[in-house]
Amino acid sequence: MNSDYELIIIGGGIAGLTAAIYGARAHLKTLILERQTCGGLANWAVEIENFPSHEKISGITLMERVKTQAEKLGAEIREIVEISAIQFNGQSKRIETDEGTFQAKAVIVATGREPIRLPLEVDSDHIHYCAICDGSVYRGRDVLVVGGGNSGTGDALYLLNQGVRTIILIEQMDRLLANQASQKALCAHPEVTILTSTEISGIAVKGKDHWVTLKNSRTGETQTIEAGGIFVYIGQAPQTGLFKGILEMDDQGYILGDETMETNVEGIFVAGDVRHKTYRQLTTAMNDGTIAALAAEAYLRSLRSDSTK
Ligand SMILES: Cc1cc2nc3c(=O)[nH]c(=O)nc-3n(C[C@H](O)[C@H](O)[C@H](O)COP(=O)(O)OP(=O)(O)OC[C@H]3O[C@@H](n4cnc5c(N)ncnc54)[C@H](O)[C@@H]3O)c2cc1C
Repeated sequence: MNSDYELIIIGGGIAGLTAAIYGARAHLKTLILERQTCGGLANWAVEIENFPSHEKISGITLMERVKTQAEKLGAEIREIVEISAIQFNGQSKRIETDEGTFQAKAVIVATGREPIRLPLEVDSDHIHYCAICDGSVYRGRDVLVVGGGNSGTGDALYLLNQGVRTIILIEQMDRLLANQASQKALCAHPEVTILTSTEISGIAVKGKDHWVTLKNSRTGETQTIEAGGIFVYIGQAPQTGLFKGILEMDDQGYILGDETMETNVEGIFVAGDVRHKTYRQLTTAMNDGTIAALAAEAYLRSLRSDSTK
């Protein structure tokens, strides 16, 4: 196996796949290393309505098309690959994985974000972070949704569509933070109860059932409810553990990049939700992926012209 590439992209979400399209079209030998299967968080979006050229498209369909496009253009994609170590000093960057060591002179980090886990020690297979992935088994059952932002309310509506019997949705703030359309649809639904200023104070697991104690932070009152499953949407954290101490980050762990997406390490670029920035959307991740790949290509060209001088 030849493990030498010109460009390696870590992460096969929309940012990484977009970078791969640009890398492959620039005739760079391009590899994507993806920990799971490609698509990233967009795979969780039931219906995307703000992607130019598609009035409505499911996240999975969109991402399959983008992946196919990157592959047809010549990018190599390796999925279910676990990176164990990286070495970014020197001109040749090394990435050690369970499938061997890969090398390239330019690397784009596009590892995105992951949901923040429920901060309670509970041993349960019924705590989930994505309704589109795990919701179908809760048909006819009662579920608890934690978090009243766009993700929580959106997935609550998805779960209702999947046929769950009832939903209790809790939000720690005194109001929901989701868009008005989702709030209106949820509030109007007879099988949905919304509890604001409410947090989980404990969970007891008995077989498939969960007895969840909820506490109202304003009144101090508690109540215990039964839930077949718990879907959690309390925010997301950048996937940057591998790069700590190597790439400069902000105080929340997002990687800093300049306007060409280059990080503090020469030849290492950053793209997508994992980058320190204000807005995190598909289109902004694609913007980052485009710029990072173009800048990586220019960087590789400059190395080649230096070596011929
Ligand atoms: C439910 C939901 C609905 C959304 N709806 C919309 C919408 O309608 N419109 C919109 O514009 N945006 C939407 N978003 C936001 C959008 O999905 C993200 O902004 C976008 O997916 C970010 O792309 P990304 O490539 O930066 O990161 P991600 O999509 O998170 O992809 C990162 C990839 O990197 C991989 N990875 C992580 N660590 C490693 C590692 N160590 N090694 C290898 N691979 C790794 C991950 O497995 C993942 O595949 C939604 C998000 C969610 C959760």
